[in-house]
Amino acid sequence: MSNKMIKCKNCGNEINVKAAVCPNCGVANKKPFYKKGWFIAVVCIVIIIAITSMGGSDENTNTVQNTIDNSVSNEYTDFSVSQLVSDLENNALKAENTYKDKYVRLTGKLSNIDAGGKYISISPNDGSFTLYNIQCYLKTEEHKNTVMNMSIGDTIIVKGKITDIGEIFGYQMNVDSFE
Ligand SMILES: [Zn+2]
Repeated sequence: MSNKMIKCKNCGNEINVKAAVCPNCGVANKKPFYKKGWFIAVVCIVIIIAITSMGGSDENTNTVQNTIDNSVSNEYTDFSVSQLVSDLENNALKAENTYKDKYVRLTGKLSNIDAGGKYISISPNDGSFTLYNIQCYLKTEEHKNTVMNMSIGDTIIVKGKITDIGEIFGYQMNVDSFE
């Protein structure tokens, strides 16, 4: 490799790869900067850093997402849980189109509290019977502390974003806050 011959970039004369200048035309024989080891190393490091910071852990991504969600003053539309479930019973497709990704302020009856503190469920508070409920996912310690002081049967108001609608499991929403 030490005696490899290359062509002079300037005149095309064959010169030793290690020659400082071309013996024919005198122009400096330098590798272009993008072929140098240190430059390639720097590019690799930059790419690795970029990939690492983009990939991030889900935890970090969620935290950032929550921060963004909370910083935006969302417009919440008022609904009752009974309205949501009766819309789902009547037409799942229409319910999906109406409520998916909507920011809502829901009034309903607390019907289930997950022992692990991941979610609560709310049902219609007007006594109507339904198989559906709204599963509200708790996002912060503050949410958990609020739920700690609630009891099944309480009428509660939850603000958040509807993330999923299904004719089997009902609605899922991410809690932003309680009132
Ligand atoms: Zn030359």
